[in-house]
Amino acid sequence: MSIDTLPPLRAVIAEHDLSARKSLGQNFLLDLNLTAKIARQAGDLSSSDVLEIGPGPGGLTRGLLAEGARHVLAIEKDPRCLPALAQIADAYPGRLTVMEGDALKIDPLRHLTPPIRVAANLPYNVGTELLVRWLTPDVWPPFWQSLTLMFQREVAERIVAVPGSKAYGRLALLAQWRSEARIVMTLPPEAFSPPPKVSSAVVHLTALPAPRYPAQPKLLERTVAMAFNQRRKMLRAALKGLAPDIEDRLIASGIQPTDRAETVGLEQFCALARTLEA
Ligand code: SAM
Repeated sequence: MSIDTLPPLRAVIAEHDLSARKSLGQNFLLDLNLTAKIARQAGDLSSSDVLEIGPGPGGLTRGLLAEGARHVLAIEKDPRCLPALAQIADAYPGRLTVMEGDALKIDPLRHLTPPIRVAANLPYNVGTELLVRWLTPDVWPPFWQSLTLMFQREVAERIVAVPGSKAYGRLALLAQWRSEARIVMTLPPEAFSPPPKVSSAVVHLTALPAPRYPAQPKLLERTVAMAFNQRRKMLRAALKGLAPDIEDRLIASGIQPTDRAETVGLEQFCALARTLEA
C-alpha cells in the first residue's frame, strides 16, 4: 500500500524523464515505505518545520509529509525535478515549499519557523560540507534541533567514531562535542536507483543545549584540524605550530606529548583548546 495517493516514484521518474545524473550525485530512493521509515527517524515532525536538501523526485519529501511534517522547505539544484515536486506540493496544500538552487549557496532560514529539523539524502561531498557548516555555527544552540542525514556508510562511521578507532577524527569530534550522534539505519546499494558502489547509513544528530565540555569553537576546531592533519605524528610534533610551549600544554591537558591524535578524547582536546585562550 502506498503512503499517499501520488503515482509510484518509478512512474514519476519516467513521466518527467528524470534519468539520474552522476554529476549531481543522483541515486534515488524509490521505495516509499523506506523513505517513510527514514522520515520517522527524524523524530516527531508534526510540530516542526523540516529543511530537506536535494529532494530529487521527492521520495523522502513524500515520506516526511506522510509522516506529518508541519512544513517542508526543499532545496533542489536540478530544475528537471521541479514539476514532480510541484505535484507533491499540490497533494499537500500549504505544506511544501520548493526552492531551486545550490544548497551550499542559499540561506533558507528566513523561510523556516523553529523548531527546525533537517533531513536529507545528499551526494556525500555536499552532505559532508553542509554537516561541517551545521556543526560549526557562530552561536549555539544552532538553528536546527536535529539532523537526519544519509551518508556513505564509511562517512557515517566517521561521524560516530570513538577514540582509538580508524574512523575517529575531526568529523567525530565536531559532531560529538555539541550533539548526540547515532547511526539509525544502514542501507544496501540496491535500496537506490541506480545503486551506488557502497552501502549507506542514516545518521541522526540531536543538538545538545550546550557543549559537553567548554572550549572556544574556533580554538577547538583549529587544534583538532592540526592534530588530525598529521594524524600519524606524535602530538608534540603535529601541534608545534599552535604554541611554543605545546608540550607543557599537552601535559596540563592530560595528554602525553608522544600520543597520536587518534587516541585522544574529546574532553582532553577541549582542555587543550582552553589552554590556548588569551
Ligand atoms: N532525496 C532524493 C532521494 O532520496 O531519492 C534524491 C537523493 S540524490 C542522492 C541527491 C539529490 O541532491 C539530487 O536530487 C541532486 O540533484 C541534489 N543535489 C545535488 N547537489 C545539490 C546541491 N548542491 N544543492 C541542492 N541539491 C543538490
